Amino acid sequence: MTTQTHHVDPVDPVDHLDHLDHLDHLDHELIQAATQVARTRCRGDHHTMAAAARARDGRIITAVNAYHFTGGPCAELVVIGAAAAQGAYALDTIVAVGDRDRGVVPPCGRCRQVLVDYFPTLKVIVGAGDRLRTVSLTDLLPESYIWADHRLDAEQTAPIATS
Ligand SMILES: [Zn+2]
Repeated sequence: MTTQTHHVDPVDPVDHLDHLDHLDHLDHELIQAATQVARTRCRGDHHTMAAAARARDGRIITAVNAYHFTGGPCAELVVIGAAAAQGAYALDTIVAVGDRDRGVVPPCGRCRQVLVDYFPTLKVIVGAGDRLRTVSLTDLLPESYIWADHRLDAEQTAPIATS
């Protein structure tokens, strides 16, 4: 990892604060990781999206989707398995980036549901350009159906999430 220093020109204080407000708590390293994988690893029709997740222990786990007409998993779902394979069962933040420089792409409906059941407190990076922001997954899925609340064996089974 390299340390970069950027010379920052003086800016209008109001504009500067406004800019900071949009980027507050934005995990740029995570976006960069997903962007890098999207640019270098996505090939053809099979792999069109990359995702990066920040594990609770600080690690970044990346993955790409496995597109298939039978319902191949999105990159966000592959990253769950990739994280578990590395012993990272608690994820704090996730972002998905499209190939062909499509930028950050919000999670689809299925992914939102899976993610909320696995990681109820997960944060998601959405938006583009200076509208990039971090939101709660539950903000993307209001009035959520929570799978664990409706399982027949819910009373005997520990929750899936390790928050
Ligand atoms: Zn999806």
